[in-house]
Order: sequence, then C-alpha cells, then structure tokens
Amino acid sequence: MTPPVRRLFFALWPDDEIRQELARACRKAIKGGGGRPVATRNLHATVAFLGAVAEARLADVFSAASGLRAGPFELVFDQVGHWPRPQVLVALCSEPPPAAVGLAGALWQRLKALDIPPDLRPYEPHVTLARKVRRPGRDLGMRPVRWPVTELALVESVTDPDGARYTVLERWPLVGEGAPVAPGSPPELPPGADSSPS
Ligand code: ATP
Ligand code: MG
Repeated sequence: MTPPVRRLFFALWPDDEIRQELARACRKAIKGGGGRPVATRNLHATVAFLGAVAEARLADVFSAASGLRAGPFELVFDQVGHWPRPQVLVALCSEPPPAAVGLAGALWQRLKALDIPPDLRPYEPHVTLARKVRRPGRDLGMRPVRWPVTELALVESVTDPDGARYTVLERWPLVGEGAPVAPGSPPELPPGADSSPS
C-alpha cells in the first residue's frame, strides 16, 4: 500500500477584503483574457510549492516554518502579467520587497534540508488570477492593491472535479527580523479536512 500523501504549499493568504480588492482591481484584465478565472475565495500568493508530501513528513514541514526568522512586509500589486508557458494571468508587484524574496529563500533553505526539491526559479510574488489564458486582453492595467503581509500559511490543496479546494492547515506570524516566530502547533487535521490521497 502506498503511504498517504498530502499536496501542500506555503502561501501568503489574504483576508476577504484584500481578495475582493484584487478581484475588483483586475476585473477588466481577467475578463479580457478569457480563460478560467480563479474564484475570489481562492486568490493567494504561493511562496513555495511542495507538491505531494508523505503524511509522516508533515511534522518536519511544520518545524521548517516554525524555525523561520522573517519579518512582515507590504506587497503592492500594481500590474497584471501574462505567463505564456503555464498560460496564466497574474497580478504582480513592479517592486517586489526584498523581504518577500528573502522569506521564500529562507523557507527553501529549510525545506531543502528535508530533501524537498526546491523551485530553482527566482521567487516572484504573484497572485494567479486566471488559468488557460492563451493570449491576454489589451487592458492589463490595474488599480494598485496594497497588502500588508503579516503571516505565512501552510495550505493543503485537494483537486475536486470543479477545481482546487484549499485548506489552510496552519499560520505563522511574521514577527520581525531576528526574532523567532512562535513554535508551530502539532500538525493536526482541521475538522472536515480530507486526508485521503487525491
Ligand atoms: P489545479 O491544479 O487543480 O488546476 P491549482 O493549480 O490552483 O489548481 P495546485 O496545483 O495544488 O492547485 O497548486 C497550488 C498552488 O501552487 C497554486 O498557487 C499553484 O499555482 C502553485 N503551483 C502548482 N504547481 C506548482 C509548481 N510546479 N511550481 C510552483 N508553483 C506551483
Ligand atoms: Mg495546478
């Protein structure tokens, strides 16, 4: 029998207000690109995609985040871009804060120690707005959206017939350079979360 695995990623998880703002600010670009818009409730910024992780490694993944030393920062999303290879429309920051890039780097350092294969591309904060976009529309402008980021989330992704369903398993506050974040909680399943392999 194959051991149970969970599809996991670390992300910045906005509150409802920011999600609504992002959806509103990018509405024209999303409409103009055709494709499959990401549901507003699912909008987020992936920091590190882990993929399938054996359930037995969950505690290690939690400790990787618990031991991080990283401070808060602000993301200002101010342009919509089109990434032709994955065929996605994304909201981007014209000036990504070094602290965001540093957070991704520090997290990957710790994940590499767990033999989780790293993403070798330089980290670029982005929020995927729509998928299956072959060609973007003409209007890629957006009203800037400021997002004060104060925590890192570990998220599980389960693919349903009608798209991905995300569950935030844990959040860690970004409490400031040099100060360790609070110790992680044990990796308990949230009520209703499905632990079966998808
Ligand atoms: P679905 O794959 O069901 O259409 P999804 O792409 O949103 O939906 P996942 O594939 O589980 O769901 O991805 C979760 C998050 O990780 C998304 O933000 C996705 O863009 C990102 N992601 C997925 N695969 C990779 C990858 N290989 N490298 C970097 N980020 C990835
Ligand atoms: Mg995917």
